Amino acid sequence: MKAARLHEYGTPLVLEDVPVPDIQPDEILVQVKAAGMCRSDVQLIDGYFRKYADIPTPITLGHEITGVVYAIGAVVPKVAGFQEGDHVVVAPGWGDGVCRHCLIGNSHICPNVRWPGFGPYGGFAEFLPVPARYLIKADRSLKFEELAPLTDAGLTPYRGLKKLRDAGALGPNRVLGVFGIGGLGAYAVQYARILGGGATVVALARNAAKLAVAKEYGADHVINVKDKSAADVGKEISKATGQNGLDAIIDCAGAPEMMQLAFSLLSISGHYADVGLVGDRIDIPLFPRVSREQTFHGSYWGNNTDLSEVIALAAQGKIRHTIQNFKFNQLNEYIERLRAGDIVGRAVMTF
Ligand SMILES: [Zn+2]
Repeated sequence: MKAARLHEYGTPLVLEDVPVPDIQPDEILVQVKAAGMCRSDVQLIDGYFRKYADIPTPITLGHEITGVVYAIGAVVPKVAGFQEGDHVVVAPGWGDGVCRHCLIGNSHICPNVRWPGFGPYGGFAEFLPVPARYLIKADRSLKFEELAPLTDAGLTPYRGLKKLRDAGALGPNRVLGVFGIGGLGAYAVQYARILGGGATVVALARNAAKLAVAKEYGADHVINVKDKSAADVGKEISKATGQNGLDAIIDCAGAPEMMQLAFSLLSISGHYADVGLVGDRIDIPLFPRVSREQTFHGSYWGNNTDLSEVIALAAQGKIRHTIQNFKFNQLNEYIERLRAGDIVGRAVMTF
């Protein structure tokens, strides 16, 4: 089968032919139909994650995966209801199934978690084996190239916004800031409308084309923050919304300068959910965090429940997509385009 693999950190993917993998009795062999490309693919190639987990090469990248059931392992329970040819998405975090996080459904933060696309098997290959419990069936009316990004770009901000909602940070008379309108942010503004309880949604980014997407997908106001001081951005928020500061923030970028800006705009009792990982370290003043009783939420990808909800919303036609489709043999070209910030929406590979 075709597979795109990283053999040495810091070098392009090698597009090669490798054997179709075997499956364990509790696994399903998925024939990949589409796989999204994520900024974290670039970071994986560049070695960003090595100080946290030094994954041995070769690595098959691609963690936003959808496809069809090709073969079913012998002990996959019949009650799971899978049949060959079913359309499925791959839930990303594969836990051990026995720790306290797995037992309440948060297998994506299991200490023994495995990730497709961060090891031997990934979506930039024609087949991969998946434990049956980490597959979710998808409605056949949904396009594969739209399903793929829902497993990360369309999932991660959903969980982050649920955290803000559950913390009581959203609702009428609240202003929510969505920072960074890349692959994730274009979904975040849509979920802000679905989950926001009537909150006013302000999208903030440095790129006019990306802000136009945010406006089209339901942001009440958009603010281009490029080369503007925090005071100037604060004035624009005040002018647009009638209030100073942001009651809730979902940060889809995680870039240090933007995080410093965002924290300076966070209201008294504000909640900040970060799902972006562009940077690795921030330097922010402590006193306002304490005296204004602000809360920071780390929010990582999503669990099976979150993904099931996203796939159901998609089946109801409630999610819009900005997709750039490309082919397997263009993988390295698109990695460079993503690195340069040239992709509006999500780049998705099909064979
Ligand atoms: Zn576990």
